[in-house]
Amino acid sequence: MATTITQDCINCGACEPECPNEAISQGSDVYLINAERCTECVGFHEKEACQAVCPVECCIPDPARTEPEGVLIERALALHPADADLRAAAASGNFPSRFRA
Ligand code: SF4
Ligand code: SF4
Repeated sequence: MATTITQDCINCGACEPECPNEAISQGSDVYLINAERCTECVGFHEKEACQAVCPVECCIPDPARTEPEGVLIERALALHPADADLRAAAASGNFPSRFRA
């Protein structure tokens, strides 16, 4: 399930640099998450980094796009093909994930 940003966003910009996948960008109205690049931080953090820094907590799971952990770690690997540490963590099954927090 990709994370999505609601209309409560106040455009502070705090989330954008925190995303390990460069999935966040400034939109015309509120900040946006590219669902094709969002792994819900699986592979990198135990919780969604955008939500962790958002002052109005408007980075929420998108109920219209539910995805299992396996899909999300595969996406992380595809987005970071040169990340040997991530690849080793994925192979061992021991990686940060909101599903395990
Ligand atoms: S949940 Fe993680 S990967 Fe998804 S947009 Fe937020 S910071 Fe990026
Ligand atoms: S941290 Fe929250 S309020 Fe700030 S730009 Fe990101 S989604 Fe919007």
